[in-house]
Amino acid sequence: MAGNDPTVERLNAEIAACDREIESAQADLDHISSGRSAYQSEIQNINYRIDDLKRQIDQEYEAVRICSAAHNRYDADNHRMRAQDFKKELTRQFELKRSAIAKTRGDGGSFQAALDRKRSAIERKKRAKEQLFARFDELKREKEQKQAKWKEKRCRDCGKNFKYNTEWSKVPDLCPDCQKKAKDKWREKPCKGCGNPIRYNTDWEHIPNYCADCKAKRKK
Ligand SMILES: [Zn+2]
Ligand SMILES: [Zn+2]
Repeated sequence: MAGNDPTVERLNAEIAACDREIESAQADLDHISSGRSAYQSEIQNINYRIDDLKRQIDQEYEAVRICSAAHNRYDADNHRMRAQDFKKELTRQFELKRSAIAKTRGDGGSFQAALDRKRSAIERKKRAKEQLFARFDELKREKEQKQAKWKEKRCRDCGKNFKYNTEWSKVPDLCPDCQKKAKDKWREKPCKGCGNPIRYNTDWEHIPNYCADCKAKRKK
């Protein structure tokens, strides 16, 4: 009965739609998170390279200082050039880091949007479920009310109990079987005078041969 109720059907469809929405929002969240962690590990690698480069630059400048002190100008110039190359590479790594950070921030917006979508679908599902349970209660009450209208009564003829509904305009005295039997006792036959049908009951002691009209004419 509940399966055919349009309200129940609508709410079940709504819940199914919410489930699909939650699933799709979650897939988006997973996708963005995995992208995010890829960027985060990229940033970590860049940080390691930056630390290395800084160390190498310090070493080169230390070498420049030592070579200069030893008046070894040739080696000092070489170390200075290598230090400058490392500095260029350091600048490039800083740029890479900036763009990786920007990408994780860019995804922050779509991450929040997916999160909002998921939360609102969960909220809608919760409301639909509450409405569904309220509808189930209502249907149960209606069913109980309908059942309360069915009462039992003893058949006047056979004495068996039979069910009747308090909404019926006329409450029968006979059970359905006895009602049918009583109905079958009413028959028809043609009038001997005019041939018109006469209704009679097989229980009658005297079953007439003439209709009321013919009977009246014959009495005259
Ligand atoms: Zn009966
Ligand atoms: Zn007649």
